[in-house]
Parts: sequence; structure tokens; C-alpha cells
Amino acid sequence: MNIKTYDAIVVGCGFAGAVTANILSEKQNKKVLIVEKRNHIGGNCYDEKDEYGVLIHKYGPHIFHTNSKKVFEYLSEYTEWYDYSHEVVAKVGDEYIPVPFNLNSLKKVYGENCAKVLANKLIDQYEYGRKVPILELRNSSDEDVRGIADYVYENVFLKYTMKQWGQTPEQIDPAVTARVPVLVSDDNRYFQDTYQGMPKDGYTKVFEKMLDNPNITVMLGQDAAECIEFDDNGIKVFDQYFIGDIIFTGPIDELFGCRYGRLPYRTLKFEFEHKDEDSYQPNAVVNYTVSEDYTRITEYKKLTGQIIDGTTIMREYPMAYTGEDGQIPYYSIINDENVELYNKYVTLVKKYRNFHLLGRLAEYKYYNIDAIVEKAMELAERLA
Ligand code: FAD
Ligand code: UDP
Repeated sequence: MNIKTYDAIVVGCGFAGAVTANILSEKQNKKVLIVEKRNHIGGNCYDEKDEYGVLIHKYGPHIFHTNSKKVFEYLSEYTEWYDYSHEVVAKVGDEYIPVPFNLNSLKKVYGENCAKVLANKLIDQYEYGRKVPILELRNSSDEDVRGIADYVYENVFLKYTMKQWGQTPEQIDPAVTARVPVLVSDDNRYFQDTYQGMPKDGYTKVFEKMLDNPNITVMLGQDAAECIEFDDNGIKVFDQYFIGDIIFTGPIDELFGCRYGRLPYRTLKFEFEHKDEDSYQPNAVVNYTVSEDYTRITEYKKLTGQIIDGTTIMREYPMAYTGEDGQIPYYSIINDENVELYNKYVTLVKKYRNFHLLGRLAEYKYYNIDAIVEKAMELAERLA
């Protein structure tokens, strides 16, 4: 392979890589090689039909949501949308309560009358519509509000967080639990963003369209760690020095043989099951916040709007990422120590001006789809 025929190399074909390649090729007419170690495009957003014809997300449920008009309009060039607003419930005993915990959840837990009094207290303290992180609610000066906070902490956050992270809500980055705040409103939606929905024909089709350009070559089943080398003179790809831009969207420690130690991540084991029934659970996602070893069950056809007999569900079991074959690092564990380790790896590539770190893995951040699409758009525009 003559690597010099390409203007840029993108490692990883999730949203970070695909959006970058799309813009470099379409807007800047650059020839782009994408190197992807899996045998498919789409990264963690990849979806496909299972043996029963049900459209499933192979790496966990992905719901698109954003407040960015720019991101929404960009993606809308590659898909129409199934108008879906995500609503999650937590199974607590025999009850299903809306999550994020809101004024409707309050009624389910405390009964109409008592909930009315408590709702007024919350509205007085925080005003209607506010989103209050659970750790902030626990510090309320009002005893009744602290009572609600204790209930929510115990029944929504503590055990789910222990399963997901192996740590308590106090031990993890507060920004993580703040993603699902207590909502002082009657809005049952999981996200309050202006734009939300699911790509009408699935995510994989979005990627196929973004990459449908003669300027783009996708090489699947190729680990960048096996074809990229750094030395004093520059970066070699397939044994040839490459001076064009290299956009790397994988975990940076693995590119350097984890020489300073592995960057800590949480991974997930997914267990799929097909049921002959038409409906398995009330919502597309049910969180198990007080029982079970899994965190949540997704019923895919309720997420995608697919009309089909039978249904496929998926349970998620979180665990520590060890790097063993087949495991995928899904969640960075963000704390001072881990960020320091991450920065040590960044130091190794800083001097290479044509090497760019982008994405949830490469930046060791907790990005949603819209954030990563926006960052990829910005980087690609900067590289013009
Ligand atoms: P990825 O999608 O992980 O893509 C990186 C790609 O790089 C992968 O294909 C990987 O195989 C490849 N790669 C890695 N290392 C190498 C290497 N050495 N050589 C070659 N290729 C390599 N966001 C939302 O907005 N809504 C949601 O509902 C949502 N749900 C989620 C649920 C789960 C379980 C998870 C884990 C994440 C969820 N996200 C959600 C976040 C979303 O998945 C990410 O924002 C998005 O996938 C990030 O894209 P990316 O390209 O940075 O990473
Ligand atoms: N969380 C929780 N209970 C829930 C939902 C979320 O404890 O019912 C906490 C948990 O720590 C989780 C974090 O809030 O990791 C963020 O949740 P989110 O749904 O945003 O996680 P993701 O979809 O990214 O896995």
C-alpha cells in the first residue's frame, strides 16, 4: 500500500472518525484512509438486525439528543428521524417510577396528597423546571427535602451507581450523577434537549451515507497499534513516514503498549434475549436501581419504533475493563489520578503536530454523540 496517496488518516470509524472523514473528503476534497479495528463501521453506535429481524444496537442503547442546531442539521443531511422522546422508568419493588426522578415520581412514591405538599417545598426552594443534582439535593437545609433526597439516593442512585462504577455516587466524578438530576417538573423525558429522535433507518445507514465518497477508503479489521509507529523523525504508517494529518479516536494507552499502565475504564457485558411476546416491559429502557446484577434492560423495538412480531431485549452488566481480548472500553473513569495518567500519554504525542486526539476514548471524556459530532466538525474545519 502506498500511504502517500492519502491526505489524511483517521483511526476509528465511530462518530468522531466518520464525521471527520466525511468533512475532509466532501468539503476539502481530501483523500482519507480510515483504519478501524472492528469488522464494521459505526463504532459503538453500530446497529444491525438480529436473527429475528429486530434492529438492535450491538453496543448498548443510543438515543440521539442535542441542543445544537448545527449538529442536528448536519446529521439531518444523512438521515430522516423517527420522532422519539426517551422516557425511562426505574423498577423499585413492584412499581415503575419515572427517571430522572420528577414530580410524577414523587406522586408514585408518596401518594397524591403528601406529594403535593412536598412538590410545593421543592418548587419553593428550587423553582419549577430546575434540575437539581442528587448530591446537591442532599445538602438542602429543609428536612423534608432532605427526606426526598435520601429516598432518591437510596432507591435510584446508590445501587445503580455501585453496579455501574463499582463506587458510590460520592466517590465518582459529580458530573456523572449530575447527568440524571432530580427534575422539579412533570416532564417524564430522560432528556430535555430541543432536538431528539432516532435515525429512521438506524445508525449504520447514517454512517454508510457519510462515508459514501470516492475520496474515502475504509480498512476494517486493522488495529492502528500494529501499523503506526512514532520515532524522532515523525510518524510511520505501514512503515512509511506520513506527513498528512492523523486523527486518532481510540484509547491512547493501547497505542503505546500501555507503557505507563492501563488507563482505567468500565466495560459492559451485553446479554440479548428474544421473546415471542409482543411487549416485554412498559418502556424502551427500564433501570434496575435496587435489585439485580444488571443495570438496565432495553427493549429495542420500543426505542426504534420498529413494527415486528416478537421482541428482543438486552441486559447490561457493568464491570472493570481489563483489556482482555474482545473487551471494549466504554466509560472513562474520570478522576485526578486517571487524568494525570492520561496526560502522561498525551505528552508522548504532543510534539507530532500532525497527530490529533479526538473522541470519547482518545480524549478520555464522557461525550454524548452530539458533543463528539460537534468536536469532529470543529477539528475538520480547523484542518482545512
Ligand atoms: P467510538 O464509537 O467508541 O468509536 C471509536 C472507534 O475506534 C471504534 O470503532 C473502535 O473500534 C476504533 N478503535 C479503537 N482503537 C483502535 C485502534 N487501535 N485501531 C483501529 N481502530 C480503533 N451517546 C448519546 O448521545 N446518546 C446515548 O443514548 C448514548 N448511549 C450510550 C450507551 C453506551 C452503553 C455507551 C458506552 C455510550 C453511549 N453514548 C451515548 C455515547 C456514544 O457512544 C459516544 O458519544 C460515541 O460513540 C463516541 O464516538 P467515538 O467515535 O468517539 O467513539
Ligand atoms: N444513575 C443512577 N441511576 C439511574 C440512572 C443513572 O444511579 O437510574 C447514575 C449512574 O451513576 C450513571 C449516571 O447516573 O452512571 C449517568 O447516567 P446516564 O443514564 O447518563 O448513563 P449512560 O447512559 O451514559 O450509561
